[in-house]
Amino acid sequence: MNRYWAEHALLNGAAAQGVLIEVDDGRITAVTPGASDRDAVRLPGLTLPGLANAHSHAFHRALRGRTHDGSGTFWTWRDRMYALADRLDPDSYYALARATYAEMALAGVTCVGEFHYLHHSPTGSPYPLPNAMGSALIQAAAAAGIRITLLDACYLTSSVDGKPLAGPQRRFGDGNASRWTARAATIEPAPHAKIGAAIHSVRAVPADQLATVADWAAERGAPLHFHLSEQRGENDACLEFYGRTPTEVLADAGALGPASTAVHATHLTDLDRTELGDTETAVCLCPTTERDLADGIGPARALADAGSPLCLGSDSHAVIDLFEEARTVELDERLRTERRGHFDAAELLRAASSAGHKALGWDDAGVIAPGARADLVTVRLDSVRTAGVEAGPAVVFSAGAADVSHVVVDGRVIVRDGVHRSIDVAAELARSIGALW
Ligand SMILES: [Zn+2]
Repeated sequence: MNRYWAEHALLNGAAAQGVLIEVDDGRITAVTPGASDRDAVRLPGLTLPGLANAHSHAFHRALRGRTHDGSGTFWTWRDRMYALADRLDPDSYYALARATYAEMALAGVTCVGEFHYLHHSPTGSPYPLPNAMGSALIQAAAAAGIRITLLDACYLTSSVDGKPLAGPQRRFGDGNASRWTARAATIEPAPHAKIGAAIHSVRAVPADQLATVADWAAERGAPLHFHLSEQRGENDACLEFYGRTPTEVLADAGALGPASTAVHATHLTDLDRTELGDTETAVCLCPTTERDLADGIGPARALADAGSPLCLGSDSHAVIDLFEEARTVELDERLRTERRGHFDAAELLRAASSAGHKALGWDDAGVIAPGARADLVTVRLDSVRTAGVEAGPAVVFSAGAADVSHVVVDGRVIVRDGVHRSIDVAAELARSIGALW
């Protein structure tokens, strides 16, 4: 049994003062506002529920500062990303992911959704252990102290019209969806790790293969994620080949629903939005990546109004800061509409916490309440960024990852006073990334 005393804590979207949080066996057992307890671990500042990073490609962290000043488009950026993908093996990927997930822990992320498609060796032949790369990611999350949902991605073709994988893409592919299911079924979950499914996109999985992946996820009650309409080019190619939008093609295959999450959903028709909302398909926005790649601004408010729960991901890890992702959802809407006030602060923090956890299959996380997983993220209110701000949800507009002082995951302290308890994060990032270039 552990006891934490939070100077302020976010309970049901509002800040309460002097909150005693009791924890036993990784779960919150009692939450008492207005309490005092001199023996409890003191958490000065504002304590939030654990943040969920619902869309990650861990290896993209090695691109930070190396591609972000470039010109060109998403497609030219992708060529550089592929060159990096070609160099990773299970050992180097473990080292890079461990450091990247530790950076996430420092930022208050208690659970990551890893959208994983680097399955095989660079020639496309499987490793002796066919899930060596996925296992490296699961072990990396354990070492960093956070939970993971490994969203194992089916990736079969290089274009909507079915061109085969070539060059660096060969290692992504399993040949067809049934071979993907055979491999994915052998990935071992763990107490900190769930296994979910992913359809890379309609570019990478032909329409006649989609239902196999969707059914596999549905039979297991596992989350299903897919990239959707991030680029207009994807929509154009899909319309030309199928005469349907990517959303319609996925809907036809039974891939939409409350356990499904569409990532990006930037360029949608009105009907696409209705279809996603009516089926309660979640949408994971990745605003810092979308702006870096010049993708465009997704229709966040319209999606939420249509019925799609919104969550957030740092995707390419140009930035790992869920506060920045969350406030950008509102700020981008302001730029587009020339009007303020589309999302309130509590709604933005819900996207970063409970909605993200739910999209990753952890329905019992992301709130500070009895019975929930004991994930606590304390934000300093005495830094140069946060000094003088009110202790409340609006902190999302001023705080950043650097203001996270204390992180508890499943009742275990992972970050104390802004320092990871077992990993020298900057040194490990430098070492693991330096080895790749
Ligand atoms: Zn992605």
